[in-house]
Amino acid sequence: MSRQDELGVLRIVLEEQYERHSTQLALLARQARKLPADGADLGAASALTAASRRALGDIARALHYLEQGRYGTCEGCQCDIPIEDLARRPSARFCTTCQPEARPVR
Ligand SMILES: [Zn+2]
Repeated sequence: MSRQDELGVLRIVLEEQYERHSTQLALLARQARKLPADGADLGAASALTAASRRALGDIARALHYLEQGRYGTCEGCQCDIPIEDLARRPSARFCTTCQPEARPVR
């Protein structure tokens, strides 16, 4: 499979993740309206909401880069980020060499 084909597969993965996070955000918003104002639950829900928003932003950027043909290129050294790394972390912008240590790989 060529890198171009592999990127095409990743695009599908990204689109699915985008859908999933969008759905989760919608569910969380609906729950937040239904739940009584319970501090603990709201705290957990808003942490989840923040995580989903962040993920959506990352995924949207990755999809945008895909459109521009820049996806999978390290922003540090311009090398091709290995497909295995992208598969594990589709919103990766740096290769493992350039990934700043302040932003640990999750
Ligand atoms: Zn790099």
